[in-house]
Amino acid sequence: LDLKAEDIQDLQELGQGNGGSVKKAQHVPTGTVMAKKIVLIDAKQSVRKQILRELQIMHGCKSQYIVSFYGAFLADPNICICMEFMDKGSLDGIYKKIGAIDIDVVGKVAIAVLEGLTYLYDVHRIIHRDIKPSNILCNSQGEIKICDFGVSGELINSIADTFVGTSTYMSPERIQGAQYTVKSDVWSLGISLIELALGHFPFADSDSGDSDLSDLDYTLSPARPNPGLLGLNGNSNTNASSNGASSFETRRREKKKEKKAKDKRKSKGVSLQGGGMTMSILELLQHIVNEPAPRLNNGPGGEGKFPRMADAFVEYCLLKDPDERWTPKDLLKHEWIDHSKKADVDLEGWASTF
Ligand code: ADP
Ligand code: MG
Repeated sequence: LDLKAEDIQDLQELGQGNGGSVKKAQHVPTGTVMAKKIVLIDAKQSVRKQILRELQIMHGCKSQYIVSFYGAFLADPNICICMEFMDKGSLDGIYKKIGAIDIDVVGKVAIAVLEGLTYLYDVHRIIHRDIKPSNILCNSQGEIKICDFGVSGELINSIADTFVGTSTYMSPERIQGAQYTVKSDVWSLGISLIELALGHFPFADSDSGDSDLSDLDYTLSPARPNPGLLGLNGNSNTNASSNGASSFETRRREKKKEKKAKDKRKSKGVSLQGGGMTMSILELLQHIVNEPAPRLNNGPGGEGKFPRMADAFVEYCLLKDPDERWTPKDLLKHEWIDHSKKADVDLEGWASTF
């Protein structure tokens, strides 16, 4: 597919994320429907060209667990990335619509993500770096695939330079400024699986509805977050300066009633709320570093209702010491994965319910 900006007609908006937006679009000459991601890159033209070259690696990333790449081009000052359109959207949207996802389906999600990660790493030496429910997509054939992996070092740097490179799915060692490894993706997978199975982000109370902490609005200025962001470790792998932290504040959406906030503080669940509406993302990051990892069965909303195998699997994803944490390959041999592979789950039927 030879993609040119003028051949692509925008249809509707699919969503917005950090530093970009995604639209459903059609390549008019061939009729191909696609998802078109627009990333604003505030960098020199030479850097943009370099990013574009690096993105071409995605042409070689072919797996049933990876969203297909159609091509990328410059549309100054943006970069457009065109990929396979997944008509059922991402898993965050799906669980927000239908509620907590059945653990047997979550097992199939775990298989898809682990197979995808293993493929990217073994074949291309690529670490994903951004595993979270909004980067796990589903289509009406019941296929589950991952997208938005870090192929371009230059793009990763540009985004780190201009916007928030910090996510609440980040592993403790990443928060402390350590290098990314494939085990950081495993942590993010563990958090994501709990979120899907519970129907809410794990660092929130069971009754918190959409007031969880996974989609914080954060304001950041000057725009230079940095991996050593808690000041626990200066070993940053970008050249970010250290002036981000003090202005790094989070505004909770003001949906939450004060009474509910009070209930929340009283409840036995993890209480990360400061005085009510506002908390700093720094507190959450500090919590991830200092407190025990969440579990499927003993957090709020879990309470022993999940199979022991699934609970154990998640525990191995969320070992805080990356040396102890399992790799995707180890995890593919875990008994819950065996069990999930054999489980007869009609994903196409499931996808037809929403
Ligand atoms: P984020 O992943 O942080 O939500 P993105 O800009 O990557 O931000 O994506 C925004 C939204 O667009 C996603 O949440 C997802 O629902 C939707 N989306 C992204 N890629 C696709 C795709 N290939 N097919 C269908 N929907 C997509
Ligand atoms: Mg995304």
